[in-house]
Order: sequence, then C-alpha cells, then structure tokens
Amino acid sequence: QCAAVCPTGALTVKSEVDRVWDAILDPAKMVVVQVAPAVRVAIGEEFGLLPGEKATGQMVAALKKLGFDRVFDTLFTADMTTIEEGLELLGRLEKGGRLPLFTSCCPAWVKYAEQFHADLLDNLSTCRSPQQMFGSLVKKHYAREVGKQPAEVVCVSVMPCTAKKFEARRPEFTTEGVPDVDFVLSTTELARMIKEAGIVFNELEPEMFDNPLGMGSGAAVIYGASGGVMESVVRFVSTHLSGGDGGRVDFYPVRGMQGIKEASLELNGQTLQLAVVNGLANAEKLIQRIKSGRAFYHAVEVMACPGGCLGGGGQPVPNNTAARLGRMKGLYGLDRAEQLHNPQDNIFVTRALERWFGGPANPNTHRDLHTRYYPRRRISGRPVEVSGRREERPV
Ligand code: SF4
Repeated sequence: QCAAVCPTGALTVKSEVDRVWDAILDPAKMVVVQVAPAVRVAIGEEFGLLPGEKATGQMVAALKKLGFDRVFDTLFTADMTTIEEGLELLGRLEKGGRLPLFTSCCPAWVKYAEQFHADLLDNLSTCRSPQQMFGSLVKKHYAREVGKQPAEVVCVSVMPCTAKKFEARRPEFTTEGVPDVDFVLSTTELARMIKEAGIVFNELEPEMFDNPLGMGSGAAVIYGASGGVMESVVRFVSTHLSGGDGGRVDFYPVRGMQGIKEASLELNGQTLQLAVVNGLANAEKLIQRIKSGRAFYHAVEVMACPGGCLGGGGQPVPNNTAARLGRMKGLYGLDRAEQLHNPQDNIFVTRALERWFGGPANPNTHRDLHTRYYPRRRISGRPVEVSGRREERPV
C-alpha cells in the first residue's frame, strides 16, 4: 500500500486508489461501485483494445474480482435523471418557467456557471447528476434496505472525469454526515487497480451488473456522448406525451463532435428549439448569443469536454479526436443493441421511483435527487453580485 508522505511528517496524502483498496479490505464495510457510461467504451484501451470496443462484461468481471461487494451501473440513475429532467422541462413549458433549461450533469459546466453566469443559475436543471443521484439512492435508501447505516456502506464511482471528484465533495451531497459518493476513480485509475491486482483483463469471462441498480436503457448509454442527454430527454418527452406510443426515437441532429449543434423538435403542436454544446468556450459563445437576444432555445445541453464525457480528462491516452470518435461509435452501437430504448422502459427505475419516492417529480424526489447552485467568487476574488442569493462559495 503506497502513500505519498510529506517530508516534514506533517501531512500524509493517500490517493483515492489507496483509499478504495483500504475500503475493500475493511470487513466492516460494504463497498458498492457504480460505473459511468463512457468508461465501458474506453477502459479496454488500457489492455490493447481499440477505442469503442465493448468491454462492459470484462470490466464488470474485473470489478467483482477486485472485491467490490456490489457492481452497479450509473445507467440506472442516468435513466432516473432523464425522467426527472424531462418532467422538469415539460413543467417549465407548461407553467412558463425559466428557459432555456440548461442541463446540469457536468460539474465543470455547473462550476463555470456558478463563477461566471450566476444570473443563469435558475435556468440550470435542479436535477443532480447521475453520479450524485446514485450516491443519494445508495446512502439514503439502498443501505436501509440491506440493513446498513449510511456510514457502513462505501460508494465508489468510476468516471471518465476528474471534475466528478470535485462534485462528490460538494457539501450538499451528504447523508447523515457522510458523503453520498465516498471515492471517485477515473477510468485510468480503475485500470491501474486491475493491473496492480494482476488480473488478466482480456481473459475474463464477461459478467453482468448486479441488480436492482444495475439496469439501464439505451437512452442512458448515450449520456457518454455529446448530445446524449438531450436525445434521452427528447426520447422521454416524445414517448411520455404520446402516451407511451412514441415508437423508436433516434434524434440524429444532436449527435457528433461539432462544438455547437442546433435542432428543433415538434412537440404537441409547439416547436422546441434545442442546442447542444461541448467545450466551455462554445458554451460561452452560445450564452452570449442568448443574452444578447440573437438566439433563443427551450433547452441547452452543455458538456465541458470535447465530444462529451467520452473525451473526459480521466480517460486513457491518447485522448484525441480519433479515440473520441471510436468511443462515440461504440456508445451508439451499444444503444442500438440495447433492448430498452427509453428511460421509462426501465422497470427497475420506474419501480424504484414508486417504492422510494411515491413516483417521479414530487417533493420526495426533489429532496433526495435534486439540488441547488451557489454563486462562487471568481479567481480575481471579486464577489459575484446576484440579488436574492446571499450564500456564496469560494472558488
Ligand atoms: Fe466530466 Fe467532461 Fe463529462 Fe463534464 S463533460 S462530466 S467534465 S467528463
């Protein structure tokens, strides 16, 4: 077990990997792990596979061999996010709420908005990201069902992202004083653990995620690509408004690597204007167009990384355009192969919403699955002035 030790002896810093090993080896802890969509099409690159080559089954088998007690899928809460966010969008359209609705599952974008566009914070979806919805479910509901206290269950995330480590430390994401998500590993950190344990990844027999938190639809798989959250919401609202008879909805205009994508959607006699951006420079351009009145949208998806989460900072290198395109192709291939197309097809999710919250989009889901945002000081130290919001956070 290695720890970086301060030469003065005053400080000992353990990496997240070491702390996850400690948790796995602690017999008093139940350690559950969730895996983000973009990890499954990239982790194979660390073991000689091509970008986008499916390695889901081997990855699950490796996690079980490493000693995690339950191997769950962030796809589960990606479907839950889509349902909550889709209903939030429909609610704002009906009641004249703040538009555009900006997505909120990218913590780098959320922090950017808190620092530089505090006047837009009421436009952000109040939905927690799939990672944080998952942590909240595990600590507040799943732990109780398996007879544990929140502190006895350790929740680990495997993410393509380094910003997710920051998100997990936001003080609002705790249950009874313990973090909802205890540790966040990047794709490359998980690969390091697999190598440290001497597991021959390519020779593993594929295994399935555990249930009840291990099932996701194709709409959740594509969360890993730029445009995926928007397409999932389009699938949900189209099917929801047609009474479940929307057929298969594939929404191609929001797919691809382009920095800014625009699309329109006919919904109940109304034309919705949609935009999808990846990269914060592109987000800034779009925001300036919105603020100056040169553009109007009903909904905007923002992801900080090129191509979306599949191009996140925790993914294997090279993390270039060719690799990102390969991973993107892999994700849409998984979506095509998935039997469940829409989030509301996921019986495990709809039942969990009923059992734990009495259904979707109500005060109970708002308590555990939604959040709020806080203006932050800019790096210059000058406070951001927003009337009505007194709470403010440091950078
Ligand atoms: Fe993380 Fe990048 Fe995905 Fe944002 S787009 S959640 S920063 S990997």
